[in-house]
Amino acid sequence: MAAQILRCLSCANAKPVLAQYRLLVRDKRASQHGPASSARCCFWTIPALSLNLANPIRNANPVRAILRRYRPRMSAHGLHVAEDEGAVAPGSEWDSELYRMATKQFDVAAELLGLDQEFRVRLRDPRRALVVNFPVRMDSGRTASFTGYRVQHTLTMGPTKGGFRYAPDVSLGECAALSMWMTWKCALLGLPYGGAKGGVRCTPADLSDAERERLTRRYAAELIPIVGPDQDIPAPDLATGEREMAWFMDTYSQQVGYSVPGVVTGKPLVLGGTTGRREATGLGVVYVLEAVCERMRILLRDARVAIQGYGNVGGVAARELHAIGARVVAISDASSGVVASGDGGLDVAALDLWVAEHGSLAGYPDAEHVAPADVLEVPCEVVIPAAVSRAITADNAERLDCRLVIEAANGPTTAEAEAILLKRGIPVIPDVLANAGGVTVSYFEWVQDQQRYSWDELEIHERLRRQLRAAYGRVTDAVDRLQVDWRSAALSVAIERVAEAARLRGIYP
Ligand code: NAD
Repeated sequence: MAAQILRCLSCANAKPVLAQYRLLVRDKRASQHGPASSARCCFWTIPALSLNLANPIRNANPVRAILRRYRPRMSAHGLHVAEDEGAVAPGSEWDSELYRMATKQFDVAAELLGLDQEFRVRLRDPRRALVVNFPVRMDSGRTASFTGYRVQHTLTMGPTKGGFRYAPDVSLGECAALSMWMTWKCALLGLPYGGAKGGVRCTPADLSDAERERLTRRYAAELIPIVGPDQDIPAPDLATGEREMAWFMDTYSQQVGYSVPGVVTGKPLVLGGTTGRREATGLGVVYVLEAVCERMRILLRDARVAIQGYGNVGGVAARELHAIGARVVAISDASSGVVASGDGGLDVAALDLWVAEHGSLAGYPDAEHVAPADVLEVPCEVVIPAAVSRAITADNAERLDCRLVIEAANGPTTAEAEAILLKRGIPVIPDVLANAGGVTVSYFEWVQDQQRYSWDELEIHERLRRQLRAAYGRVTDAVDRLQVDWRSAALSVAIERVAEAARLRGIYP
C-alpha cells in the first residue's frame, strides 16, 4: 500500500502514518510524538476528529478508511491528505506561517457564512504567481542574484492591486497571504480590485541607492508580463516608497513606449501621483480609530497610545494622534523602543527631528529605551502595531495592557494571540479595515490617472473618510448581527461580496 501523508497546516508537519496511526489516535497526548509545542499539530487534531472513529480504527486499513470517510472534515480542520509519500499536498506551495494564518481566518469566516464548498475552493488559494530570479550588478562590480515574487489572489473583481516590499524574509507564502488579505480589504472597501502582493528578498539597508534602482528596474522588467493599469497595479509597502514607484513606472513605460502613470500608485505627485497618498494609511488608521473609540466610549483626545513602527504608517498615525490631543506614550522602530517618562506622552515633533538627523530612534535622549517589541506592553488605551507581521503572538498577548488593538500593519496578530486578547475582552480591529486607507487613496490615484484629472486634498480626505466610514458601518453591522469579533465580521462581509461576484461570473469555459 502506498504510504499516506497527513499534513497539518498549523505546524507544517507531514508524517507517513501507517502503523503509527492507531497509536496516534488512541494515545491523545503521547509526548513521544512531538514536543509540547505540537499542541497545534496533527497529532492533536486527529484525536479531536477521531471521536467517532471507533470502527475505522479496527479496520484492516485504518488510514485509508479514515481518510475516505473523514477527508472533508479533515480539510475543514486544516489537514491536507496526500495519497503518496512523494505527492505534493494541495496548496503546499504557498505554505508559510502567514499563509496558514490567512487561510485559518478565511475558514472561520467561510464557516460563519455557511459558504458553499465551490467558493471555498475557488477563493482559498491564489490564482496566479510569478517567481523570478534575476541578476543585479552591485556597486563593487560583483553580480548578485535576487529572488522576487508577485502573487495575484483573485482575478474575479477586476485588476489586482497590492504593494511590493523589500525585506530579508519575503517569500512566496508570505506574498500569498498578503495577497489574500488585499482581496478582502478591497472587497470590504468596495474597490474594483482583487488582491495582489509582491516583493524582493533582500536586505534593503545594505543596498546603495544605485543598487536599489537597478534592483527595482529589473524586478519591474521581470513583472511586465503580468502587470499593467488594467492587469495588476503595484504600490509601496515595507521599505519601498515614491522613489521605487517612479523607477517601476519609468521601466514599464520605457518598455511599452509611452508614459503609463496608472501602472503603479504611490508615485511622486509630478508623475501622476495623488495628493494625500503618503499619509493615507496612517490617516485612515486614525479615522477608523476615532469611530471605534466613539463606539467603545473611549475619549481619543486624551487616550494613551503605544505604536510599534515609526515608518510611513506608524509615523503618520503618531503625528495625527498627537495633533488631536492623544498621548503617544511609546513608539518604536527597528532600532529601539522609546517610552515617555512622564504622563504627557512623547514629544512627536522632537522625535521627528531626531530621526531626521540621526536616521533612527536609537539614542533619543528624552525617554526611556526598551526593546522595539516591548512598546506593545506599555500600559495604554490603544495599541497600534504598525511595523511587521506576527508582532502580537501567544507569547506576549497576555501582557498587553490596553483596551483595544488596531492593526495598522498587515497580519500583526496571530490567531492564538487574538484568541487570548478576545478572551481578555480586548477587541482587535483588523488590518483589512484599519489600514485600508492606503489602498483607498491608491484607488483614487488610479482613477485620476485614468481620467488624466487631479482632485484636491480636501476632496481626497473627504472621500477617504466617507469610504472608510461606510466600510466601518458594514463591519459594525456584521459584528452586531452575527455577534462575532471584528475580524470575522469584516472578513465575512468581504468574502460574501467576492463569492457573489464569483458566482455571477461562473467558471470559464
Ligand atoms: P516602512 O518601511 O515605512 O516602516 C516600517 C517601520 O517599522 C520602520 O520604522 C521600521 O524601522 C519599523 N520596524 C521594522 N521592524 C521592526 C520591529 N521588529 N519592531 C519595531 N519596528 C520595526 O513601512 P510602512 O509602509 O510604514 O508599513 C508598515 C506596515 O504597514 C507593514 O506591515 C505594511 O504592510 C503595512 N501597510 C502599509 C501600507 C502603506 O501604505 N505603506 C498600507 C497598508 C499596510
